Amino acid sequence: MARLTIVLSQAPGKHPAKRALEEGVVAALLLEPGLEVSVVPNLYDLGPDHTGRLFLGAVRGDLVVLSWLYPRAAFWLLDRIGIQGHEGQSQLKHPADDEEEDPAEPETSADRPVAIGPVGAIPDRHIYCLDLRDFNKPEPYLKEVARIVAECRDRRDTKAREKAANHPVIVQLGLAVNGTANSLATAETPAFAPEALLAPAGRRWYPVIDYNRCTNCLECLDFCLFGVYGVDGLERILVENQDQCKKGCPACSRVCPQQAIIFPEYKSAAIAGANTGAIGGLKIDLSKLFGGDVADALSMAVQERDRELVNDGRTAVGMAVGIPKRQEGKPQSPKDDLDKLVDDLDSLGL
Ligand code: SF4
Ligand code: SF4
Repeated sequence: MARLTIVLSQAPGKHPAKRALEEGVVAALLLEPGLEVSVVPNLYDLGPDHTGRLFLGAVRGDLVVLSWLYPRAAFWLLDRIGIQGHEGQSQLKHPADDEEEDPAEPETSADRPVAIGPVGAIPDRHIYCLDLRDFNKPEPYLKEVARIVAECRDRRDTKAREKAANHPVIVQLGLAVNGTANSLATAETPAFAPEALLAPAGRRWYPVIDYNRCTNCLECLDFCLFGVYGVDGLERILVENQDQCKKGCPACSRVCPQQAIIFPEYKSAAIAGANTGAIGGLKIDLSKLFGGDVADALSMAVQERDRELVNDGRTAVGMAVGIPKRQEGKPQSPKDDLDKLVDDLDSLGL
């Protein structure tokens, strides 16, 4: 029978409550038949040579990733390190979202300009990203994993039936050799030693691009003066030198006109990859969180970039370099409303 791979990405540090939840979830999932359960350090920190990342790259079938990151951030983080698949839709909702009386309309892709989209051929599998901050007990995660198991099984069965209808001879041969129709759908994951998967990973800081939003305007490439961004052979934006990004600085995320740049561990939920609509029961105007109107956003981004230039022993450039044409000449107005909004959200612990 095809097995579903579950990977739990640990929280950085050793927060006792977070560790307890991680252990509770893993212990319960290990008892479930048909699951391959593994634990890796914080996904965001895994470098190219970390065994946890090599393991993730070796998983061929459907994948569930539980992490302390927003699902959108985790999904695009995985995509960018070559762990691609179709985005599986989780039905987990933060409890506070149910209490909201007047839920905000979720933004849809139809509301936005055409984006680049995922690069290359997407493997025929689904990746589900669940946020471990949504609940402080294992049960909701176990229930959601059970639902995903059933969903993946139904999807495989449907495909097997379609395949049987289109290629009856091949399927009969497959059944004769492998025993079940399910075995046509997925490959087993190679074994990795659990202790190697959990080798410590140093903290990292870099932008992650959501290609379902990015329109390849290249404004981030012009704005960043630290060589983080580049383009691929087809002139599409990419994060070329992740570790040249300045720790704690989210400047370019404020300049991106599509709010496509995510810093998964930034304190503001929108920049960290929360979806639009409601975050923890609070209605969110994403554009405000990224910096209010364009002048506010640009002002903050320029200050943040200048600070990093000076920290590097370079000269601050202010508005003189890399400013998007659509923002040139805009005044650098005060940002009191924005600061208040961000402070309000911070005080809620979002
Ligand atoms: S600024 Fe945003 S939309 Fe433009 S290329 Fe960069 S990530 Fe994509
Ligand atoms: S945060 Fe700063 S250093 Fe990092 S990619 Fe953006 S502009 Fe460049």
